[in-house]
Amino acid sequence: MPRVKAEEKKVVSIEYTLTDDDGSVLDTSEGRGPLAYLHGAKNIVPGLEKAIDGKGVGETIEVKVTPADGYGDYDPNAIRNVPVRKLPEGKRPDAGEILQVQTPEGPRHVTVQSVRGDYAKIDFNHPLAGKNLFFKVTIKDIRDATAEEIDHGHAHSKGSGHDHGQEAETQAGG
Ligand code: ZN
Repeated sequence: MPRVKAEEKKVVSIEYTLTDDDGSVLDTSEGRGPLAYLHGAKNIVPGLEKAIDGKGVGETIEVKVTPADGYGDYDPNAIRNVPVRKLPEGKRPDAGEILQVQTPEGPRHVTVQSVRGDYAKIDFNHPLAGKNLFFKVTIKDIRDATAEEIDHGHAHSKGSGHDHGQEAETQAGG
C-alpha cells in the first residue's frame, strides 16, 4: 500500500511550535490539539507548506522560514491613521492590541500603535512580518479533503461540518 503523503487536496493535521530568533515561543498547538489545514491552499505560510510537502504521518520537521517565505518583509510605510469608528465593532482599542480587520485581500491581523482622539495609528504589517520563523512540526494525520473543503479552500473540523468562526483563529502563526 502506498504511503499517504502530504500533498494537494489532503487535509493535514499537525502539532506545531513556532519560535523566533531568540527561541521565544510565538505560537503553539500545545493544549489546543492539532491544527488541521488544507495542503496546497495557502492556509499556512509558504515556507512551512513547502517543508511539509511529501512528508508522512509521524514525521517531525524542523524548518527555518525567512520573511520572504513567511509573512513578508516589514513595510515602514504600512502605518496609517484610521478613524476609531471604522475599526471592528467601532470600539476604542488599546495600544499594542492586535485586531483582525477585513481588507480587499481577506482578513488581516494588524497592530494598534497608539490611539489619539478619534483616530488610531494602525500598523498594517502582519505581527510576524520581517521575522524569521522556526517551526517544529509533527504530522499527526493525513486524510483526503472533501469536495466541500476543496471548494472552500480550507479544512473543516471533524464531524462539525462547518465552523468558520473557529477556522479564522486557527491558522498557524496568526
Ligand atoms: Zn468552509
